[in-house]
Parts: sequence; C-alpha cells; structure tokens
Amino acid sequence: MNPSAFDPRTHQPAAAELAGRIIAITGASAGIGRAVALECARHGATVILIGRDERRLSDAHADIEAACGRTDSTLVQLDLENALAGDYDALAHAIHERFGRLDGLLHNAGLLGRLAPVEYYDVPTWCRVLQVNLTAAFALTQVLLPLLKLSADAAVVFTGSSVGRVGRPNWGAYAVSKAGIENLVQVLAAELAGITRVRVNAINPGPVRTQMRRQAYPAEDAAALPLPESLTAPYLALLGPASRGVTGGSFDAQAVR
Ligand code: NDP
Repeated sequence: MNPSAFDPRTHQPAAAELAGRIIAITGASAGIGRAVALECARHGATVILIGRDERRLSDAHADIEAACGRTDSTLVQLDLENALAGDYDALAHAIHERFGRLDGLLHNAGLLGRLAPVEYYDVPTWCRVLQVNLTAAFALTQVLLPLLKLSADAAVVFTGSSVGRVGRPNWGAYAVSKAGIENLVQVLAAELAGITRVRVNAINPGPVRTQMRRQAYPAEDAAALPLPESLTAPYLALLGPASRGVTGGSFDAQAVR
C-alpha cells in the first residue's frame, strides 16, 4: 500500500487487535510511551517496557497489570544515553530466550536537550541528544532486526517531530536528531522492502501534554493540549495489522496545527 493512502488517525482498534504480539517500547516509563504501552497491552499485546528509571518503569508495569489483569508484560532497564554494545546484545538475547521473536518496536524515548541557537549550543548536550534520539534508535533496531525478521508481521515505528520535518530556530540537536529519524526511516524501509516482512514508519505525535512539552513550552496552557491517552490509536495502527504493507511513511497522530 502507498503510505500516502494510509491515515492512522482514523483507526479504531478492535478489542484484541494485537493479541499474541510481542511489542517493545522505549521511553515506556512516562508520557506517550507509557500510554501506548498500556493500550497495546489492553489490546492483547505482551509488552516489553524499556526505560532508564526502574521505579517509574515498575509503576508503568503495575498500571498494566492493574488495568488489564495481565502479568505477561516485562520491563527492561536500559539507559539509552550510556548503553554499550553488550547492553543491546543482552536485551536481544533476553527477548530471544523468552519470546523467540519480536513483532513490534516503538522508538519513543526522547531527550529535548536545550533550546539555544546553534552558535551557542554546547557540544556535550548536542552529543547526548543525538545519542538518545537517533543513534540509540539505530543501534536498537540493528540488534533487534533478526528477531523482527522472525515475526510473520513486524512493525518498527520511530518517533519524529514537526521540527524534524522543517528546521526551526533554537531547536538545535533535537530538530537535527528528528530530521535524522525521518531519513533513517526512508533508508531502512527501502533496504527492507521486498526482502522482509518488516515495515518501518515514523509517527509525529504533535503537541501532547507531557513533561517534555512542558520543558519546551513552559508558559503554554497545558490544559489545552491533548493527553497522551487520547492519541494512542494511531500508534496501534502503525504497530499492528492495520498497517500491514505500509512502509517508509511519516505520519501524524493529530491534525497538523
Ligand atoms: P516524556 O519526557 O514524557 O517521556 C520521554 C521518555 O523518554 C521517558 O520515558 C524517559 O524516561 C525516556 N528517556 C529519556 N531519556 C532516556 C534515556 N537516556 N534512556 C532511556 N529512556 C530515556 O516525553 P514525551 O512522552 O512527550 O515524548 C515521547 C516522544 O515523542 C519523544 O521521542 C518526543 O521527542 C516525541 N514528541 C513529543 C511531543 C510532545 O508534544 N510531547 C511532540 C513531538 C514529538 P525517564 O522516565 O527515565 O525520564
């Protein structure tokens, strides 16, 4: 299917749409990732919650158990800023041992860094943002690709941003990392098309009421923004069977403002 003919915003997930699927989500401890993880579990998926803060991850895990009555989800502590090759290998090994394959991978973890003109942007923050938002997503995809290839219907979803589509002053490393994500999706989708059943797409959540949004727009009326819980359906569309055959696309979770 041509990605331009697909609109995940109109998707209405069926109750057991993700039944039997194993889906890994980074940044599952908070914000959008946490909400999507819960909805994936509600719709039948076994969710692998990946995050750096063990307590927040445990809370997210407990929420899933309480809301869905499911005990099959699992959590993995991984700091994407500092993870080394051995940490990625250990994650892939653990997923292989426990599940034997992977059906979905949502790269959602993100770091805003600071808002500053390029002229004054400090190099260490630049490197941290590129590492978490772009390089870690590449490394995780690479190490998990063999497990995704073992799935009958695998989906990789990267998280973009409007500033990754058109650069904006002061958004520095964050904007550049998200532009890199858009390009990585195109490169990877083209490489995998026709030779695997792994599809690769990007989603831009749009403005959402989370910690990161508050950090970027401290003076904004947060109450006017949608909650992460209200925007999960497009994520389920891209992670599940609704998007079968759609690859290389970049989608919006909301009407573009
Ligand atoms: P939050 O700040 O609420 O959540 C970010 C998540 O990323 C947290 O779970 C956080 O973990 C995790 N994370 C950050 N750094 C690391 C790290 N080093 N290792 C592992 N995990 C890490 O942000 P949102 O929910 O708003 O953002 C989710 C995604 O959506 C991001 O990719 C963001 O760029 C994108 N986005 C968001 C928009 C918005 O308006 N909210 C708009 C456009 C794009 P921890 O709990 O440990 O902090």
